[in-house]
Amino acid sequence: MEDPKTKREPKPGVCRICSCTETEPCTPPCAWADETWTLCSNCAEMIALIAEWGFSSPRPSFALLARAAKEAYEKAPVPYRLVIPSPEEVRAIAGGAH
Ligand SMILES: [Zn+2]
Ligand SMILES: [Zn+2]
Repeated sequence: MEDPKTKREPKPGVCRICSCTETEPCTPPCAWADETWTLCSNCAEMIALIAEWGFSSPRPSFALLARAAKEAYEKAPVPYRLVIPSPEEVRAIAGGAH
């Protein structure tokens, strides 16, 4: 099904879409959706959703979808992403704890 000439060879144990692993899973935690362990359930679900959208929309634009998704991603509070707090915030956190 997949072109064997694709440059980046999927590595078993690493999701080929989001690069999640056994030790660093998605939030909420995912499971392997394929037998080769290169696609997680989170991404498999997303692929199914996008495919459904593509088939059911009159003129789906993947470019616009990608742009909107990027904007939403940048705006979203992502609790599992490492955020470096500013010195003021560190002081506020430290001050609040005592
Ligand atoms: Zn994934
Ligand atoms: Zn995952």
